[in-house]
Amino acid sequence: MTRVHNFNAGPAALPLSVLEEAREELLEFAGSGMSIMEHSHRGKVYDAVHEEALSLLRELLAVPADYDILLLQGGASQQFAVVPMNLLLPGQSADYVNTGAWSKKAISEAKKYAKVNIVASGEASNFLAIPPQSEWTLDPDAAYVHYTPNETISGVEFHWVPETGDVPLVADMSSTILSRPIDVSKFGLIYAGAQKNIGPAGLVIVIVREDLIGQALPITPSIWDYKIQADADSMSNTPPTYTWYLAGLVFKWLKAKGGLEAMAEINKRKADKLYAAIDNSGGFYRSPVEPSARSWMNVPFLLPSGELEKPFLEQAKQAGLVTLAGHRSVGGLRASIYNAMPEEGVDRLVEFMQDFARRYG
Ligand code: PMP
Repeated sequence: MTRVHNFNAGPAALPLSVLEEAREELLEFAGSGMSIMEHSHRGKVYDAVHEEALSLLRELLAVPADYDILLLQGGASQQFAVVPMNLLLPGQSADYVNTGAWSKKAISEAKKYAKVNIVASGEASNFLAIPPQSEWTLDPDAAYVHYTPNETISGVEFHWVPETGDVPLVADMSSTILSRPIDVSKFGLIYAGAQKNIGPAGLVIVIVREDLIGQALPITPSIWDYKIQADADSMSNTPPTYTWYLAGLVFKWLKAKGGLEAMAEINKRKADKLYAAIDNSGGFYRSPVEPSARSWMNVPFLLPSGELEKPFLEQAKQAGLVTLAGHRSVGGLRASIYNAMPEEGVDRLVEFMQDFARRYG
């Protein structure tokens, strides 16, 4: 078996030790005579897995007691609709910050349910910088303010949390959750698809302040009503049990690595190394993103010409470094370096980039 270094943006690499543990337990879980994926979600065996993963996530993110954690079938795109269905009161509008592709998708979906105000846009910078909060036109009566802390495609990340006063702040943290500590109390609601820093695809996590739920629009499907799911411990319908089991293994792995403080240090170091390789390449590589908004998780970069992309990708693959193509909508190259990408993978990529630049520069 040859495991490669997988730089995909999502579904993304999982920690090797997690996959090994899952393989070990695949046929029989905890002496129960069957796989955990064959257990009833209402049985004792699965219940212990469910609760342990929930409490580990609460511990890792230091989620305050007055927040519910929901784990639901689906992904972040589904929450683009579910958030307005749950948080809007009749007659209210919602504020959205547009920093790129995923913000735009959230906005167009929300418009089906809500009056949406775009309170800031990165358009002037071609979405390669974050508009400073001093330029935002927030509405103090909005139901919530929605933003995307990390734009996965363009690699633009907030390294600060917006101040929205009494208006709940809603964040699509799909591609940055668990990469560093956050102060959950600054948010009304956080959601994240699993397939980057949590586990396999098919699961979405919602962390929501209790007082914000319970007034969903009448059209809201019951399984998407946060209050119904919170009261049912996320089991109003069958939760994605095997995905949640794997997420629990990832949470244990994170805890053993020293939790989110330790991850933040490692992630910052990995990102710094990669940006340094780009910036110190004598202009061979180029990062299009404004330096203060450079993402720790998704690092897009450009070569001197588009023609060099094919040999770069082919030779990188030969070196065991895969899925480095940029998103199909923007082209170029992109290295996604989530928690499960070991520092050694980044070191190998940097060595490869230096060698490639020597040969083609
Ligand atoms: N938001 C962000 C920031 C993302 O990166 C993605 C997926 N790459 C999505 C939303 C959509 O996620 P899903 O495909 O799980 O709906």
